[in-house]
Amino acid sequence: MTKQCLFCKIASGEVPSKVIYDSKDVMAFLDIRPANPGHVLIIPKEHFETLADLPENMNSALLQLVKIIAGAQVEALGAQGVNVLQNNGELAGQVIPHVHVHVIPRFKGDKVTINYSGLVELKDEQFDEIQKRLISKAKELATGEEVKEAPKQIKEAPKEPEVKGKKKLLRIKLRIP
Ligand SMILES: [Zn+2]
Repeated sequence: MTKQCLFCKIASGEVPSKVIYDSKDVMAFLDIRPANPGHVLIIPKEHFETLADLPENMNSALLQLVKIIAGAQVEALGAQGVNVLQNNGELAGQVIPHVHVHVIPRFKGDKVTINYSGLVELKDEQFDEIQKRLISKAKELATGEEVKEAPKQIKEAPKEPEVKGKKKLLRIKLRIP
């Protein structure tokens, strides 16, 4: 437990929350700044900062609770869909540095907007280069064995706003040192 961490305090009961589900390792409670009625946060009770820090033996407990809560939102609240969001790092919108999963019930005509499709334009060779790097690193992370030819870092992805049709697209350039 981290002394200043809000979610650790919620997990221990030091800070009250509207608890939905509480078990040995994971818990679910209502987000106090909900996107929709029934917006639930799911956390491991132990403090881990990001998903990458979460130990493997916690994976199934966390995902199982996500499924249960999503099901409850549909059946008890009449949600017509459910978004599952998990933000890592401040830049990605992670406000509390304790792993958590947003489970957001969706209703027709609600105000939720999630926009992540087709925001950048990549060339075929960029897709290929990215695929190569990710395959290599994913294999390493999955097996724990370092892949010999370590992929190079992407130094920067300069923003080059460009108007194409009516839609602004960012063209990301991969700079390989
Ligand atoms: Zn914590």
